[in-house]
Amino acid sequence: MPHKSSYSKYTAAVVIIGGGVIGLTIARALKRRGMCDVIVIEKGEFGREASWAAGGILAPQVEADAADDFFRLACKSRDLYPQFAAELKVESGVDVELDTNGTLYVGFSNQDEADLLDRFEWQRNEGFTVEWLDGDAARQLEPCLSDKVRCALLFPKDYQVDNRKLVQALLIANERLGVRLLSDCEARSLKIENNAIAGINTSQGFISTNMVVVAAGAWSSRIESSKQLKHIGVEPVRGQMLCFEAKPQLARHVIYSSRGYLIPRHDGRLLAGSTTEHAGFDKRVTKEAIAAIKEMAVEIFPVVQSLPLIDSWAGFRPKPKDGLPVLGRSNEIEGLIYATGHYRNGILLAPVTGDSIAEIIIEAAQPSLLTAFSPDRFSEKTAERPPALANARGSDATDF
Ligand SMILES: Cc1cc2nc3c(=O)[nH]c(=O)nc-3n(C[C@H](O)[C@H](O)[C@H](O)COP(=O)(O)OP(=O)(O)OC[C@H]3O[C@@H](n4cnc5c(N)ncnc54)[C@H](O)[C@@H]3O)c2cc1C
Repeated sequence: MPHKSSYSKYTAAVVIIGGGVIGLTIARALKRRGMCDVIVIEKGEFGREASWAAGGILAPQVEADAADDFFRLACKSRDLYPQFAAELKVESGVDVELDTNGTLYVGFSNQDEADLLDRFEWQRNEGFTVEWLDGDAARQLEPCLSDKVRCALLFPKDYQVDNRKLVQALLIANERLGVRLLSDCEARSLKIENNAIAGINTSQGFISTNMVVVAAGAWSSRIESSKQLKHIGVEPVRGQMLCFEAKPQLARHVIYSSRGYLIPRHDGRLLAGSTTEHAGFDKRVTKEAIAAIKEMAVEIFPVVQSLPLIDSWAGFRPKPKDGLPVLGRSNEIEGLIYATGHYRNGILLAPVTGDSIAEIIIEAAQPSLLTAFSPDRFSEKTAERPPALANARGSDATDF
């Protein structure tokens, strides 16, 4: 397993800062394409931050109101998941429990019904798979649904994965592939010479490298380096989650309402989330959040009222200024690559991020799917302009 190393000096072809799903997926993708010398450095324990706290919902369609660049990127990544999960099983022996039962979005009010109808119509008109259900049809699929549910959308192609098993699978796969995994190793500053990466100063000494991938999640803008990392303005957005015991499992689908969601896990846990809070790096679970999340869960499934609450936690979604991921090469610093700001969708976006960043590094390509997410949009020249890309995905309007 990941080790604390006693070396104080290293060299590597590529150093990835951050050992969450994003950093680990990129490392794996690089190694699988034959890159020799890859180090991932992690300031604490691998995969224990947002990637651990998440719900693992892989649902680009459920909240989308337009087929924009973000939607295309998210659908591409979701569609990569079956193969990604199958390969990880072979590489690591871990089943990440990709669940393809689909996602349900339920409506209670006139407003919910109108919103769901709009979403149903645009997605159906554009050829995406979505089904309209009245309340009784929804209850046939999910018998514990409240009598107050009057309609629902079923998204059969939106999935979920057990994100904690995903982290575990990625760690084992990376170890077996020969990626060097350094835990308790914090990147403190980037060494930049003549506008090019020369290395990283870390809590375990200097690492010499010409290529750095910033995948440090909610901490990405805190690494001392170029101004661009600051301009991206990644901030932590706290999300709290509850976990109930539901044995045997009560739900078959991930179930959304406009106020939150329920996620059934195979082992009988029923997760409920979440909050969207600007609370710095304070990871406390609050009484107010427990009450609000439970109320949302009971509105969907009244039976939750009597389920034992067995766990709760909080994590930090990495949100850049405009709420959209930051993916690609820096045009200001040679050898600096961004893979951060995945905000509410980092588990979903992991496979496409891994493949695209590996392509950028190994083939010196710039995949067209990433054009809208380039770090250039935050460069000094464009930093003063209002964000051009903000859309519903970047807003705090809904939780995830
Ligand atoms: C409550 C909640 C629910 C969510 N639900 C979903 C969901 O259902 N579906 C979905 O797709 N997404 C979801 N997300 C979002 C998802 O969790 C994140 O987008 C994703 O985990 C980001 O991955 P990451 O690897 O960038 O960040 P992280 O997992 O946070 O990893 C970053 C790592 O970098 C390390 N690090 C930071 N600074 C340094 C440094 N200087 N040196 C070395 N290491 C450093 C950190 O310790 C951390 O381990 C949710 C998030 C939360 C909080």
